[in-house]
Amino acid sequence: MQFIDLQAQYKHLKTKINARIQTVLEHGKYIMGPEVQELEQNLAEYVGVKHCITCANGTDALTLSMMVLDIKEGDAVFCPTFTFFATAETIAYQKATPVFVDSDDETFNICPVHLEKQIEKVIAEGKMTPKAIVAVDLFGLPANYPEIERIAEKYDLKVIEDAAQGFGGEINGKRAGSFGDIATTSFFPAKPLGCYGDGGAIFTDNDEYAELLKSYRVHGKGQDKYDNIRIGMNSRLDTLQAAILLEKLAEFPTELLARSKAAAKYNAELCETYQTPFVPEGYVSSWAQYTLIAENRDEEMAKYKAQGIPTMIYYGTCMHQQTAFKELGYSDENFPVASHLAKHVFSLPMHPYL
Ligand SMILES: *Cc1c(COP(=O)(O)O)cnc(C)c1O
Repeated sequence: MQFIDLQAQYKHLKTKINARIQTVLEHGKYIMGPEVQELEQNLAEYVGVKHCITCANGTDALTLSMMVLDIKEGDAVFCPTFTFFATAETIAYQKATPVFVDSDDETFNICPVHLEKQIEKVIAEGKMTPKAIVAVDLFGLPANYPEIERIAEKYDLKVIEDAAQGFGGEINGKRAGSFGDIATTSFFPAKPLGCYGDGGAIFTDNDEYAELLKSYRVHGKGQDKYDNIRIGMNSRLDTLQAAILLEKLAEFPTELLARSKAAAKYNAELCETYQTPFVPEGYVSSWAQYTLIAENRDEEMAKYKAQGIPTMIYYGTCMHQQTAFKELGYSDENFPVASHLAKHVFSLPMHPYL
């Protein structure tokens, strides 16, 4: 048994994906070919936003978004401590300071109550400019955007939705990728919508942001790519990956149903043994991971292993515990919920062909 079975998915979509790849090989437009534009249109339509700008990976999607929001040295950017490293890394990469926030003990997403406390603290200290919130749709469940957007408005902060794991999720019918000022996702193969390499995308309703993003991803281009009007980067999605994603996106709604069926079955079988994942009323998870809490995690994982069932730990190290962020001077007492999660969470196999 595999933790994520990508081969089973390829077998199912083989004829269609092979044909798409063949088309690209024959037309030869390997960079920014017609499939890239077609995919961007389809993605924007699926998510329900005006603009989708694809890029090289989910980390670049965050960096490009932060360039657009002019996040820089002296800025405080709030993000959950219980997340994948890239969420906080990209803040530090802009030379801004990541200010970590504890997790909600039911959803494991950023806790709005602690978020507001951290914002107040930065304001009281008066050393940094509170600039933005990066919320993460952890394990596929959208963060509490109604509350996050209320707080952002109160303190005049921008919101970035890191939907690397959240693509396909919803709150009251509004899809992940449409929250905040800018949203990002990743097409890393293991994500809910993955390609066969690295890939990413950015979503926004803001025309000005969309224009800037298209410039930043191609060396800060102006009218053409040899007219460079700002400092950008090289972060495009390969045409081949776009071609693969076109077929994968067409299949995605069916796959999402299969994931949610698998999760329902897990819930029914496991709810008496563990704390199973909590999905608030009106929310839809894309089930990027199916994550449980066990007091004796090592023993539990060993039992599954003995039966040939792989398990993984996402995440065993919070951002405040990372060596790279040691100088920020946090301790586990600052984040009791997240620190507990890092010690007790583990995930079971989850994919649409389970
Ligand atoms: C995977 C992931 C990223 C980074 O995506 P890449 O495509 O691997 O660069 C960022 N944030 C979160 C929450 C992720 O899970």
